[in-house]
This record gives sequence, C-alpha cells and structure tokens, in this order.
Amino acid sequence: MKIFKSKHKLQKKILNIKNISFVPTMGGLHRGHISLIKKSKTFKGKILVSIFVNPKQFNEKKDFLSYPRNLKKDLIILKNLNVDFVYIPNVKNIFSFRAKNKIFLDKSSKKLCGQSRRGHFEGVLNVVNRFLEIIKPRYIFLGIKDFQQSYLINRHILKKKINTKVIHCKTIREKNGVACSTRNNRLNENQFKIASNVFKYLKTKKKLIQKKISNFKLLKIKKDLINLGVTKIDYVELYNVKTLKRPKNKREKFKIFIAFYLNKIRLIDNI
Ligand code: AMP
Repeated sequence: MKIFKSKHKLQKKILNIKNISFVPTMGGLHRGHISLIKKSKTFKGKILVSIFVNPKQFNEKKDFLSYPRNLKKDLIILKNLNVDFVYIPNVKNIFSFRAKNKIFLDKSSKKLCGQSRRGHFEGVLNVVNRFLEIIKPRYIFLGIKDFQQSYLINRHILKKKINTKVIHCKTIREKNGVACSTRNNRLNENQFKIASNVFKYLKTKKKLIQKKISNFKLLKIKKDLINLGVTKIDYVELYNVKTLKRPKNKREKFKIFIAFYLNKIRLIDNI
C-alpha cells in the first residue's frame, strides 16, 4: 500500500494506470466504508482510497473541527484490505489549482440537505470534481446512505461527460438498524437506542405507505419522532428515488429521507 500526500507524486505514480477504482472518504473508517472498498475489489484494476475532511462542505466550523478523525486506525484498516493507494491531501493540495470543469449543481441540490446545510453540496462537488481531475478514475464508489450526494455527483459526472462511472453501494447498518456512520462514535447509549427506534419506526411507516401513499402524514410523523426522543428534525420527506420529487402513487419507487439531531449530533438516513 502506497500513501501519498502530494498530488504530483500521486499523479506520477498512477499516470499509466487505466482502471482505477476510487473510494473517497473523510476517514473515521467503519463497516460502511469497508463495504465500498470490498465492492471495489470485485472490479478489475487498482484501488485508491482518499481520506480528506473537506472544510468546504461543513457549514459550521465547530462541526468541521469536531468531526471524528483517526488516521492511524484508518491506515491499519486500509492495509489489511490490501488497498493499492491512499491519498491524504491537505487543504492546499486540493484547492490550490484551477479545476478544468466547473461544477454542475442539479436543481434538486436545493432540497433536503441542500436546504438545511447551505453551501454543503457546492463544497462536496467542488472537492469531488477536483479529485476526479487528479485521479481520473474508471469507477467511483459511493454509498447511497448519502443518497442525495451520490445522486448529485452522478448528475455532475453525466452533465460534464466525465469518463468515470458511479457505482452506488448499499447502506450498511448496525445490528439495531442504525446506519453505520463516523458520527455514531459520538452517540451515547441512549442516543444510539433512539436512533435505532427512529429507523424501526420509519421502516414500519414505509410499509404502510407502500400500501397506501396517503399514509404519509408529515405532521404526525414529525410528532412521533419527537416523542421517540429526537431533539430536532431538519427534514423528513417522501421522494421518488429517480426524480427526488414527491411520489403520486404507490407504484413509484420511493424512500423516506430524514435528517435529525440527537442533541448536537446530526444523522441522516434513507429507508
Ligand atoms: P464519508 O467518509 O462519510 O464521507 O463517506 C464516504 C463514503 O462512504 C460515501 O460514499 C458514503 O456514502 C459512504 N458511506 C458512509 N456510511 C455508509 C454506510 N453506512 N453504508 C454504506 N456506505 C456508507
């Protein structure tokens, strides 16, 4: 496993490698990240994992500073997974050059997390666009846990005709249903239980909505979630997974999207 901090050294090394599978992360690796890497191993070529906590996608500096980091442990995990290359740039390394492509922000970026975290997706696309230009991967592996993120990155890649294919990967969960997340490290036992109850509640709700779409009663759902112990709800929405619009009938493929707080910890999921 080769570790790179410099963009130039990385580019020199991978210049002639055609099939690169790229797994971008912000570190604090867990089973969700590991599943992406394992998926990338089923494709031909070399695997490149990046670890970069992108300041531009955090709308609160405090959130950026308190984001859990554990580089030493991450590198052990990556080595055990036989990853070929790890790229750990610093902020200057990523932002000090002019990107060729301008970012394309689909209008659905204004919804869900785009509404509650202003500038978040501009920040995400800015950095992913740069990574794509540096690495020129054949594939990029993204988790649908961050559904809107993978949706918007895919829209950007298609619009800009970038020669990289998005591989959407399923959400990995803890035994109690909570989606694995670096932020889970900050939950106490009671908060972890509440997060699990939120998941179970929404799963049951989804089944009812699949029977009858009018079972999606936003106000009631919000009230129930608060009663479960949720501190604050950024959004809970029912959207068609292709259009990110409210479905009109139960035959459409839809998901419930949620972002909520347990005390100061913000969690997102889609069920
Ligand atoms: P992050 O380090 O949180 O930026 O995530 C890096 C990648 O891992 C993104 O593509 C995420 O969608 C994906 N990811 C995060 N959590 C999970 C999970 N529980 N299951 C599957 N993929 C995940």
